[in-house]
Amino acid sequence: MKFYSTNKSSAPLSFKKAVLKGQAPDGGLYFPESIPVLPKDFYTGLPDLTLPQIAAGVLASFVEDDIAGTTLISTVEDVFDFNIPLVKLDTDIYSLELFHGPTCAFKDVGARFMSRCLSIFTPSDKKTTVLVATSGDTGSAVANGFLDAANVEVVILYPAGKVSPLQEKQFASLGKNITAIAINGTFDDCQALVKKAFADQQLNKDLVLSSANSINVARWLPQSVYYFHAIGQLMKKGNKKAPVFAVPSGNYGNLAAGLLAKKMGLPVKYFIAATNMNNIVPEYLETGSFHPRPSIATIANAMDVGNPSNFVRIIELYGNDFPAINRDIKGFHCSDEEIKETIASVFSNNDYVLDPHGAIGYNALQKIKEVDEAGIFLETASPAKFPESVEPVIGEKIPLPVSLQQFVEREVNSIPMKNDYNELKALLSDKS
Ligand SMILES: *Cc1c(COP(=O)(O)O)cnc(C)c1O
Repeated sequence: MKFYSTNKSSAPLSFKKAVLKGQAPDGGLYFPESIPVLPKDFYTGLPDLTLPQIAAGVLASFVEDDIAGTTLISTVEDVFDFNIPLVKLDTDIYSLELFHGPTCAFKDVGARFMSRCLSIFTPSDKKTTVLVATSGDTGSAVANGFLDAANVEVVILYPAGKVSPLQEKQFASLGKNITAIAINGTFDDCQALVKKAFADQQLNKDLVLSSANSINVARWLPQSVYYFHAIGQLMKKGNKKAPVFAVPSGNYGNLAAGLLAKKMGLPVKYFIAATNMNNIVPEYLETGSFHPRPSIATIANAMDVGNPSNFVRIIELYGNDFPAINRDIKGFHCSDEEIKETIASVFSNNDYVLDPHGAIGYNALQKIKEVDEAGIFLETASPAKFPESVEPVIGEKIPLPVSLQQFVEREVNSIPMKNDYNELKALLSDKS
């Protein structure tokens, strides 16, 4: 399978090359040349398949030219070594808990799969250096996803003193192949340094530099897997109806992965693009025009995105057919106040603690889904990651999940650095 650029001006590449490149040179996102429809018995058999078995079935045709079948199986067994349970909250509303991985958010899935791909694709006598800038969340998912990945060095830049202490510990205390650099500057400074490194031809000749950006195909494709797994669990619970999925969205990678699953034949009635006050995509669904603008800060801050990068993949999936897009996706957005009301009411009615992102998904199902429809919302992160907004609403402390507890006692061990490209370049050259 080849992957072409959504801007159509760069040459199509193999999976391996698309993963190593990240973004296409023409600025587009890589997209599969064809979308395989899986055999019918794969769908009817979903309740009896394990998560890794589903992953291997879903991903095989995308990666088979570059990853042997047996390697794919051992890779997905390693990536999906945690549960993704479907939890029933109401008669017809279910939470797909995507937060049981090492950093308690769904980004663990994509980060772990991509890191394994890079290890497979890097010759044993070479090294790939992954460079990322983070304001918190991406850094922890990437650092933990790439920890111990063979032949891969990870360098994470973050603004000194501007990320939460627990988050800093999640990516700056690991050691081994993970180096954290505390830049004396802002997140934008960190991002500018990363851009400069990628544009530095000399540096890119000396070492294989890669980005773990969320638009990478190796982060995007494995997110389709848990939609199949969710339906398998729904069938197991005796529900045979094609469900509605509410997807809390920011860059829209998760939603685009769900739509890809539907194109592969997964029986989904429709999706809800659920977001906060950054309602660029719901507005597009209503008006047909797409207006990126500066993001607004909300308590569902992982979705504070004003120019969603994966929107082009949604357009590509539907060949820009607006009526078809509207049949499959409904838009929903809500305010911080509504998020808090949802967290409060689900806590008192269902004794279940939502995080601010998942709360938008739940709210969307309640407002949009018909009574006879089964609805699944993606619970994209553990509420324990957002104590400052959730605890005052429920009036209780949220216990820290075991996977986060282990970080509390850890020592931050990062390298302080001025906002100076030459210092960064010297460090990167040393690592290669
Ligand atoms: C990244 C993130 C999202 C948004 O996912 P996209 O794929 O960017 O739409 C939602 N919730 C949480 C907790 C996230 O970290």
